[in-house]
Amino acid sequence: MKQAQLQQVIKQLKGFLETEKYFGIKEYISDGNYKKVTKMSKDKNNSSQHKEKSLDEIRKRVSSCKKCSLYKERKNTVFGKGDINARLLFIGEAPGKEEDLMGEPFVGRAGMLLTKIINSINLERKNVYIANCIKCRPPLNRPPTEDELRQCEEYLIEQIKIINPKLICTLGKYATLNLLKIEEPISSLRGNFYEYLGIKVIPTFHPAYLLRNPKDKALVWEDMKKIRSFLKNESI
Ligand code: SF4
Repeated sequence: MKQAQLQQVIKQLKGFLETEKYFGIKEYISDGNYKKVTKMSKDKNNSSQHKEKSLDEIRKRVSSCKKCSLYKERKNTVFGKGDINARLLFIGEAPGKEEDLMGEPFVGRAGMLLTKIINSINLERKNVYIANCIKCRPPLNRPPTEDELRQCEEYLIEQIKIINPKLICTLGKYATLNLLKIEEPISSLRGNFYEYLGIKVIPTFHPAYLLRNPKDKALVWEDMKKIRSFLKNESI
């Protein structure tokens, strides 16, 4: 192999190992094929099954919930979606029209932008978990009321405890206020680290806000770099 080719292979291998390290894969054994040994042990499989079961149980309760009046107009409840072992959890405020129709969080234009934001730190949607504070759509996409947020918080708390991420990124004013209970503008809270249920929280702007104010995308990029750096340090 020529030197230039060899250098190219080494470069690719380095990139591959960096990515694997990022996702927590710590060891390799050689059986002639460099067989990968992941951190997913038998215990972890059992724990994943347990998590799946617990989340399904809450999902069922949510789907028949009538604790607040939002149940009356919903087409579907929107529980959340993603990797149940995710290290990064995004929390938005409430489902919109498309989410209500599909029963999935962040599927409209704002959802497409959220996907791009996630991709910007070399992650995919399937690597993170995405949920909302409120599981049913408020009529005409109005902001959730304090009472609705309070009624639905029990589900969110259970969900967070089961997923147990390393970091929560709240999207927008209402999700941030709901978790942090700090009455300050999102523009001054974003990009800083706080705590909720003993888990680090970093607020950023809601993607729907960014669609209306694209100039603030640069600030979200700053927040995403902090997220990437936090998760990298956590995996060391
Ligand atoms: S928004 Fe939450 S509390 Fe209200 S009905 Fe839906 S699931 Fe229940």
